[in-house]
Amino acid sequence: MSIRVIAIDGPAASGKSSTAAAVARRLGWAHLDSGALYRAVTLAALDNLRDPGSEMRDAWSPQRLVALAEDLPVRLVLVGDVFRPEVAGVDVEDVIRSPRVTARVSEIAAIPEVRHWVNVQQREAVGTHPQGVVVDGRDIGTVVFPDAPLKVFLTATADERARRRLAQRGDRIDPAELQRESAALGARDHADSTRRVAPLRSAADATLLDTTRLSVEEQVARVVALARERIPG
Ligand code: C5P
Repeated sequence: MSIRVIAIDGPAASGKSSTAAAVARRLGWAHLDSGALYRAVTLAALDNLRDPGSEMRDAWSPQRLVALAEDLPVRLVLVGDVFRPEVAGVDVEDVIRSPRVTARVSEIAAIPEVRHWVNVQQREAVGTHPQGVVVDGRDIGTVVFPDAPLKVFLTATADERARRRLAQRGDRIDPAELQRESAALGARDHADSTRRVAPLRSAADATLLDTTRLSVEEQVARVVALARERIPG
């Protein structure tokens, strides 16, 4: 039997997580946001290891990062139908969205050993859910679950993504703010698309969905329709 995973990939702020969460609710599946794991490892490093930008250059070595994630531990916990990130037994779903984590997460996510560790956590988590899991990220359809029966790659223009991010944070939407946010998202996408290991890209067999002019409800309806077409109930 094929794995019951829907892979949703795309650049920053393309609506992956909100779409994935809503699709999971509609299908009665679980939702796993893989970016949350990279963010949780980044938070753990910032709080527990000396920053390589300061003194010890090798303080964020791959071995230390993986050992830290194992020891604290950093993990995913299934609460209801949502996998939530925890660090040392504390739910970190909110704190991992802070600017200090966002600014450093791509650096941590470019480390192959960290990616391997995160992928093991994801595959284990998926195995624990009987219905199926909607997983969102950057390399879910290409690397983590290449056999997923449905892969969707979401895109939207940089301006639209910046506007959504500001609106989500309740920030003022003026041209200067839009430009700043769009540049920050662009820098993260550039880092994520040009890294050597598991770069952000669409799988050859993914369905491309440009969400620039779609509401979240429309995006969700399209993915749910594809899921019903392709995956037996
Ligand atoms: O999805 P989100 O923006 O929260 O992801 C944060 C970061 O985690 C991304 O910018 C990327 O560097 C990394 N990431 C990744 N692979 C994934 C999910 C996230 O490299 N599958």
